[in-house]
Amino acid sequence: MQAPPFSNKINLWQLAEKRGRLDGELALAALPRLGALNRAEGAVEIALATGVDERGVRFIRGQLKAQVELVCQRCLGPLPLRLAVPVSLGLIRAEAEAAGLPEAYDPLLVADEGARVADWVEDELLLALPQIPRHEDRRDCEANGYRAPGDEASRAERRRPFAGLASLLSDSKRSA
Ligand SMILES: [Zn+2]
Repeated sequence: MQAPPFSNKINLWQLAEKRGRLDGELALAALPRLGALNRAEGAVEIALATGVDERGVRFIRGQLKAQVELVCQRCLGPLPLRLAVPVSLGLIRAEAEAAGLPEAYDPLLVADEGARVADWVEDELLLALPQIPRHEDRRDCEANGYRAPGDEASRAERRRPFAGLASLLSDSKRSA
């Protein structure tokens, strides 16, 4: 079965009735909101099943995979991240229906005529990003020229307003 184009509206209600799948790739370039944070090219791998569960809930389940590159908020260097995002969505037609969904599902509001897969796939990816992206290993930041300030908890650490000045000072000391 040919995968539907993810940038078009797809009738997810019908797809779920037919227990159809959403499989394929979606270019990261097609996701402008993610593009504001991500510098990597490439694509999201989409591997999702749809169906109707025993309680009559239309669902979408599976996984999204993508390799993105964010900006580390400690050293401002590139921060490659491999995302593997589990998806478990229950389709609803109105916000009020969200409360009635089993806990296993996150609600996905879908109009009768369907929804663009790219829109909610982008939402899922955005939700999976760390709130403050940073290299886990501080040595990776140091490799990008980061020098730890005295106070590790300093909120100003990512700004480093004096980094340039500090290097100037040490140069002049060296030459003196
Ligand atoms: Zn870093």
